[in-house]
Amino acid sequence: MSAEIIDGKAFAAGLRSRVGALAGAFEKATGRKAGLAVVLVGEDPASQVYVRSKGKATLEAGMESFEHRLPDDTSEADLVALVRSLNADPAVDGILVQLPLPKHIDENAVIAAIDPDKDVDGFHPVNAGRLATGLHGFVPCTPLGCIMLLKDRLGDLSGLDAVVIGRSNIVGKPMAQLLLKESCTVTIAHSRTRDLADVVRRADIVVAAVGRPQMIRGDWLKPGATVIDVGINRIMDTETAKGRLVGDVDFDSAAKVAGAITPVPGGVGPMTIAVLLRNTLVAAHRLAGVPLAK
Ligand code: NDP
Repeated sequence: MSAEIIDGKAFAAGLRSRVGALAGAFEKATGRKAGLAVVLVGEDPASQVYVRSKGKATLEAGMESFEHRLPDDTSEADLVALVRSLNADPAVDGILVQLPLPKHIDENAVIAAIDPDKDVDGFHPVNAGRLATGLHGFVPCTPLGCIMLLKDRLGDLSGLDAVVIGRSNIVGKPMAQLLLKESCTVTIAHSRTRDLADVVRRADIVVAAVGRPQMIRGDWLKPGATVIDVGINRIMDTETAKGRLVGDVDFDSAAKVAGAITPVPGGVGPMTIAVLLRNTLVAAHRLAGVPLAK
C-alpha cells in the first residue's frame, strides 16, 4: 500500500470542536443557543441511527436539538405544516427532514416547504440554484465535507482533472459544482457513461458516489490520484460471515495506486455530521444578523 490515508474522522473532530467554540460565542452574543430541528417520519432503522447521532452531536457542540418523530402514516399535509411551524420558530435555525420519506409523501414538496435560509441540508432548489450561480447559500453536507478534505490534502485544486461518479442531487451534482467553483475540469459520470474506467483514469481527483460496493478498482486509477469514497455499502464478509461497511472503491487495490484515499468507515462519513453542525451555526449567525467570529 502506498496511498496516504485521509483521516476524515480526525478532520471532522477538529471541525466539530471549532464549531463548538463558535457556538459558545454565538450564545454569548445573542443570549440563546443555536438550534437544529430534525424531523424523522417512520421507523427506518438506518434513519433512526442517523437522527440519534445528529441529535447527540448537536448537543455536544453546545447547540439546541429539537427532535420530531412522526408515525409512518403521517400525511404530507401534516409534515408540511410541521415544517412551516419550524420555519416560523425563532429558536430553530436549521431544519433537516431525514430522507427517505415514506412513499406516500412527495419529498420534493416537503423540501420546497423548508425556508431556504434554514435549509442546512442544502437540498432546497433555491440553495441548489445559489450554488450553481455562485451566491451564498447552503451546500449539501456530504459534498461540502469532501471538498474540505480535498483542499486540506491538495491545497489549490485549480486546473486539476476531477471525475465525479454519480449525479444525485444530494451528492454527485453539488460535488461537481463545488469542484467547478475550485476551477477543476469536471467530468460527471453515471450509469450511462461509456468506458468508465477510461474516464476515471484521466482524473487527478476521483469522487465515487455510486452506491455499488467496491466497484472502482485500483487499475482504473491514474497513479497518484486523490480518491474520495462517498459510498457506504453493507456487505457480508465471507471470511467472518459478518456484515461490514465498504465504500464504492475497492480500497485494497486502489490504495496501491492512489496518492491519497479516504477509508470507509472513517473517511467521508464523519464529515457529514460535522458540516451539518457548521451549516446550522452559519444559519444561526445569518438569521440573528451576527457576524461569525473568526
Ligand atoms: P443515488 O442512488 O441517488 O445515486 C447513485 C448514482 O450513481 C446515480 O447517479 C447513478 O447513475 C450512478 N450509478 C449507478 N450505477 C452506476 C454504474 N454502474 N456506473 C456509473 N454510475 C452509476 O445515490 P447517492 O448519491 O444518494 O449516494 C451514493 C453513495 O453515497 C451511496 O453509497 C450512499 O450510501 C452514499 N452516501 C454517503 C453519505 C455519507 O455521509 N458518507 C451521504 C450520502 C450518500 P444514474 O443517475 O444514471 O442512475
